Amino acid sequence: MIPNQCSFCRGTLAEGKTEFMVRIGSEIIVIKDVPAYICDQCNESYFTPDTSRRIDAILEAVRTGPVCGKPLAAIEVRMEG
Ligand SMILES: [Zn+2]
Repeated sequence: MIPNQCSFCRGTLAEGKTEFMVRIGSEIIVIKDVPAYICDQCNESYFTPDTSRRIDAILEAVRTGPVCGKPLAAIEVRMEG
């Protein structure tokens, strides 16, 4: 389930909302207003199993057909070295 402290930095998790970003092929999908538990120190986000399922459902809808969304510009930069 959801840890009550961050497993990376031991910071405290607070309930909030975040953006979930994932790349599918050449498209970047950003899901806004995702309920999450967010670390107050490193901003790592944790999702409940229910939220993860809803994210998966949205990504599946994006993969399999047109979905109502707003196209965004994305900039891709490669880190050198
Ligand atoms: Zn943290």
